[in-house]
Amino acid sequence: MSNIATGIGRLWVSGYARSVVTTAKAHADCGTCKGVRNELGAPGGVIYEDRLWHLDHIVRPLPMAGWLILKPKRHVESVAKLTDAESRALGPLITRTAAALERATGVKKVYVGLFGEAKLFAHVHVHLIPRPVELGDDLRGPLIFALMRAESDRVPVSEAERVSAAVRRALARTRRRGG
Ligand SMILES: [Zn+2]
Repeated sequence: MSNIATGIGRLWVSGYARSVVTTAKAHADCGTCKGVRNELGAPGGVIYEDRLWHLDHIVRPLPMAGWLILKPKRHVESVAKLTDAESRALGPLITRTAAALERATGVKKVYVGLFGEAKLFAHVHVHLIPRPVELGDDLRGPLIFALMRAESDRVPVSEAERVSAAVRRALARTRRRGG
């Protein structure tokens, strides 16, 4: 007869169950979080939103009509820290929004930029800019961001609202492409 000692292992369950999701509400001073909460008065209001992403028009003073901002609802300050789900949704959203902007404005291409450098706007946000068909060399490529330094609206608010509504309709007609 052998006396077999049976060790009973204890299963240590990690206490890592708490949520690591940071809500927009938790960052009261973040300008992008305020945008997610629709507190910045974007012309035309929310253009698109789902569980993870929020799309609206850039706020006043307006650099142009149709300059849109796509941002994760979660406060995150580095693209490297997007979740897999946020990352998977981002590509199709950029493509669909750019297509909707081209239809709504008649432009041939849409600039896409992401910096997160402005004061109080470190929260990741993607600029989608309908590149005007006629655009001087002094505003091409990244130089277009010079328009953000305008101190007053460069276009009527009503025009920004019109483009926002058109993009909203165009996005509602499209379906996320599979694969
Ligand atoms: Zn934020």
